[in-house]
Amino acid sequence: MQRWRILYGDPDTGGELPPPLEDALASGVPLQRPSSLAVRRAALFAALRRAVPNERVIQAMERVPRERFVPEAYRQFAYDDEALPIAEGQTISQPHIVAMMTAALDLRGTEKVLEIGTGSGYQAAVLSHLAARVVTVERIAGLAQHAQGLLAALGIANVEVHHTPAGLGWPQEAPYDAIIVTAGSPRVPQALLRQLAPGGRMVIPVGPHGGQDLLLIHNQDGNPITRNLGPCRFVPLIAPEAWSG
Ligand code: SAH
Repeated sequence: MQRWRILYGDPDTGGELPPPLEDALASGVPLQRPSSLAVRRAALFAALRRAVPNERVIQAMERVPRERFVPEAYRQFAYDDEALPIAEGQTISQPHIVAMMTAALDLRGTEKVLEIGTGSGYQAAVLSHLAARVVTVERIAGLAQHAQGLLAALGIANVEVHHTPAGLGWPQEAPYDAIIVTAGSPRVPQALLRQLAPGGRMVIPVGPHGGQDLLLIHNQDGNPITRNLGPCRFVPLIAPEAWSG
């Protein structure tokens, strides 16, 4: 609370609050935020530890330099708990949501994981520290290519990036112990349930464009058990059983 006042002004006394991020960026006026990236990073991880008490997941996130996964212009916001724009009109997810989704997969380190929606490659990088192998697919060629280069530059060797302009997932290497879908779908696609191993877990945002519920689906002996983890908002999943592009 005290830190909030120092960094951002006091809302109760009408202290100077920065304008909302999007307004500020649209106006072209550079934001003057006094704290360094390191200070903001420390504050973010302290908040994440309170919100998602899963030390393995938080430590995996600490190993990934999020500032490398966002466009240059947004680097100063890399450790704010916000989704940020990446290329091609897509977004890198909010750290809190990344932590929640990753924790929900309950990975032990031996799994093969499928991610739908590579985007920047950030989520895949986090998963690389928690699973044996990560297969990630992206429908936009430029994003897939960029993410692949970045993951290689960071020395991450257990992530496989595939450009998938059509279809859904990567059935060639199914079944997966865990599936994470980082784009919103109007329903749970059967094509993905078919790629999930018995006993496996899938997290997927399901609902209309404006907002979805984050669902955790546990494949118990071919019988999907669903838990709702709460509201979220993702860019659309473009696929035969989801939205049309
Ligand atoms: N996980 C990403 C964020 C992804 S944003 C990160 O950490 O940065 C969602 C991504 O899903 C977008 O890049 C979008 O192009 C991609 N996408 C949408 N539909 C898809 C599909 N059917 N197959 C693969 N990728 C898809």
